[in-house]
Amino acid sequence: METILLLAHTEPDGSLAKSAREALHAAATLHKSLAGSKLVAGLVGENVQAAANSIAACPATKYFGVAGKDFSQSRYATDAAAAEAICKAAQATIVVAPATSRWNRALPGAAQRLGGRADTHVTEISSTPTTGVGVNRWYYRQRMEAALQRSQRPWFILIDPGSQSPCQCEGGNATVENIAVTLPDSAKRTTVIGIREPKADAQTIRPDAQLLFVTGAGWTKKQGDGQTHVPEAEKLIRGFLQLTRASLGSSKSLVDQSGEGQAVLSFLSHLNQIGQTGATPRHPKGLSTCCHGEEPHTVGWRFIGERRAVNLDPNCGWARGKADVLYVADAFAVMAKVNELLAEK
Ligand SMILES: Cc1cc2nc3c(=O)[nH]c(=O)nc-3n(C[C@H](O)[C@H](O)[C@H](O)COP(=O)(O)OP(=O)(O)OC[C@H]3O[C@@H](n4cnc5c(N)ncnc54)[C@H](O)[C@@H]3O)c2cc1C
Repeated sequence: METILLLAHTEPDGSLAKSAREALHAAATLHKSLAGSKLVAGLVGENVQAAANSIAACPATKYFGVAGKDFSQSRYATDAAAAEAICKAAQATIVVAPATSRWNRALPGAAQRLGGRADTHVTEISSTPTTGVGVNRWYYRQRMEAALQRSQRPWFILIDPGSQSPCQCEGGNATVENIAVTLPDSAKRTTVIGIREPKADAQTIRPDAQLLFVTGAGWTKKQGDGQTHVPEAEKLIRGFLQLTRASLGSSKSLVDQSGEGQAVLSFLSHLNQIGQTGATPRHPKGLSTCCHGEEPHTVGWRFIGERRAVNLDPNCGWARGKADVLYVADAFAVMAKVNELLAEK
């Protein structure tokens, strides 16, 4: 009989992130399909009661918690110790967790300590009476998908955020069994003294956005009048992002330009790069502008539902089956009009 443990960490305000609810949805679905299985929840954070209450109506029969100041921050040593303690207390055979950067770092180590196995980048869990529990996961920057089963337990399954619908279970009052974890001093050597991040309005990567807006090198190239128009490009792109809260992606050529001392869009970094050597985000829609749509770029659009592009060149890569709709047009003119219409709304 499998004991499925939903393992989540709380956010700084004590809540559970959407990615944790997605993992819970996957764990609860697996529990439903596995006759005789047990579902329990484990939470790690400074205070876990509010998070447990927020999912009190889920099918988990028991809640375990490792709480305290030492567990408020993302730190390998304390997170791995907390995960190990909860898994032991719950006697978990399958651990389903959100693939946040915090858990991706700590849970493979916890699996090693417990003699188990860990799989990251999982997008689907399934089970059949003949094959047992199986997962689908991605390798090589999401270029290859594998379907696999494992007999080793405990099996840590880290669910890629954005790949599941979040569980909609109601809140209530949950009884949390607190697990004491004694930490050696060495576990607390690393301390987070602050977080450096862009200002809220400069934060352009929004994984939960409905739309991915991609900018290509064309925005900084000489236009019909023989001149570049970088400040105007910045204004149009910023204006569109502010009006739509879209997530900003870029081609490699554009983010690489700063290294070559060329005029660039000030709010872009390599983190915005989409493609083979960049990110492969998940958004329902994507709009590409001034980007040629070459294969190493468009491979990063694998999980974008509906794809549209604006390019002056009717023979660009998007026209060759890479986009659902290609607008052969000047992106400067198109985006100025789009922003005008959005502002009117
Ligand atoms: C091993 C390898 C890995 C790579 N990995 C990646 C990756 O991860 N991501 C990535 O993006 N690239 C990657 N590349 C590079 C990729 O092959 C392309 O060189 C790059 O994507 C081109 O960027 P671009 O389309 O913005 O620029 P360009 O090729 O310069 O295209 C600019 C486009 O803008 C259009 N344009 C210009 N002005 C306007 C206007 N006013 N209105 C509308 N359109 C206009 C032009 O018609 C042109 O099509 C990789 C390459 C290699 C070899």
